[in-house]
Amino acid sequence: METLTGTTVVGGIAIGRIRYFAPFAYEASDAPAADPEEEVLRFEKSRYAVQDGLHDLYEKALNEAGEEEAEIFQAHEMMLDDEDLIASCISCIKEDGHLAEYAVVQAFDEAAAMFAAMEDPYFAARSADVIDLKNRMLEHLSGREQEEWTEPAILAAEDLAPSETVRLDKSLLLGIVTKGGSSSSHTAILARSLGIPTIIQCKDLSSECDGKEAILDGDGGCLHLEPDAETAKKLRDKKEAADRDLARLQELKGLDNITTDGHTVRIYANIGSPEDLESVLANDAGGIGLFRSEFLYLNGSAEPSEEEQSAAYRKVLEAMAPKQVIIRTCDIGADKTVDYMDLTPEDNPAMGLRAIRLCLTRRDFFKRQLRALLRASAYGNLGIMFPMIISVREVRECRALLEECGQELKAEGIQTGTYETGIMIETPAAALLADELAETVDFFSIGTNDLTQYTCALDRQNAALAPFLDPHHPALLKLIDMTVQAAHRHGIWAGICGELAADLSLTETFLRMGVDELSVSPVRILPLRDKVRNLNLT
Ligand code: PEP
Ligand code: MG
Repeated sequence: METLTGTTVVGGIAIGRIRYFAPFAYEASDAPAADPEEEVLRFEKSRYAVQDGLHDLYEKALNEAGEEEAEIFQAHEMMLDDEDLIASCISCIKEDGHLAEYAVVQAFDEAAAMFAAMEDPYFAARSADVIDLKNRMLEHLSGREQEEWTEPAILAAEDLAPSETVRLDKSLLLGIVTKGGSSSSHTAILARSLGIPTIIQCKDLSSECDGKEAILDGDGGCLHLEPDAETAKKLRDKKEAADRDLARLQELKGLDNITTDGHTVRIYANIGSPEDLESVLANDAGGIGLFRSEFLYLNGSAEPSEEEQSAAYRKVLEAMAPKQVIIRTCDIGADKTVDYMDLTPEDNPAMGLRAIRLCLTRRDFFKRQLRALLRASAYGNLGIMFPMIISVREVRECRALLEECGQELKAEGIQTGTYETGIMIETPAAALLADELAETVDFFSIGTNDLTQYTCALDRQNAALAPFLDPHHPALLKLIDMTVQAAHRHGIWAGICGELAADLSLTETFLRMGVDELSVSPVRILPLRDKVRNLNLT
């Protein structure tokens, strides 16, 4: 048995044979073209044929995976109309006397290198799209057909181009493992939407694994090639148990989160980007209780514009409407740093200029996000939530800025909608001031991750502190209870969006406290619903 390790994108276990997807390799001859005019004609014919094929792929992706997956093929179709790219191919054929294949390799490689050198990771990643197009052009020019799959298999590859992922027969995909890839690559997007076990960055993966029996352990982030009997039995049993449990949990979709004695609780989802929507919908979330908006800032090399942010928020709001979507304003700082913000290094970043403190210090930056949120509010049921609050003054300042942004948009004739305003309770100061704070907002959402670290003075990033960490520390539970009771005294609702919300051993405690909403990662929704439906609080 050989075990290769990688990074998990989707958990679960896949058992089957490896099918190694070899990248298209073509050696373009630099022999002179006998008839350059004829070569230009061949180039143009292939370009149109590839564009036709891309159009078919667009339609296929639209039906199978939706607009987001499909858009890339429209973009590819347009890339093939790029005047500079066409001119360099034609000049390589006509002026330098090369064959169409050679011209395609030269011009497309040059364009790909230009993208790859760009600093912005989004544009740098487009280099893979140009290479994908080059291969499609060469496939057509050389008349090479793609080999079809006929049996279910675990797909292994260096990485997958968008057109390759769409051309695959998804019903035959047991799992995916790639040598490269990133969590925002098309492969990862596809894997999440299909919900099949997937690991990326599996550095030791090679074409030698083709055809081998394997077990892909998405939970453990590893691929076992030709597993020994003991490993195979252990993982087979684990898969069978997980499959049975999954099938049973699927039957809970559409059912209420209600105890046997009639208490209900809302179960919402935590997300980091619009890409997580698919999983949110597949797991029947009642809404989104925490959209960690800072991930939009962490993904790029420049601050997302007001338009980009507003489009991302709108997408989530429209997909979820009429269900509520609570978007937390930017929580940058501490462990979440971004180079372009030029943050001053701090001795104690967890207690430093992070989250709302940073936003209230850089007001123009903050206002761009507030304006984007207000613009998106016209398209769904929005909640705006402020992180790391410790005082009533901070909430008032946030509200005043929101008001200012609302006035500006009105003056510009831009439509906005209604929204709720809430705060995260993730500092002991906020929990202790819950009565006063409840007078200023519509809801509380308790962030137990930070509330634990600040209450117990235990750095959440420091693994060495594990022996001292009690996730159920009585002081923490007391603060949660105080917060919920204060919220109810003032007629507002209180939820929990930290990791503890998914801790099934605390569900009964939270329901007894009267917690109104539990927001958890999408895959934890159905297990939590199951737990609630088996509780009796009498
Ligand atoms: C929390 O602190 O519990 C929380 C939900 O916020 P984050 O984990 O993003 O800091
Ligand atoms: Mg937090």
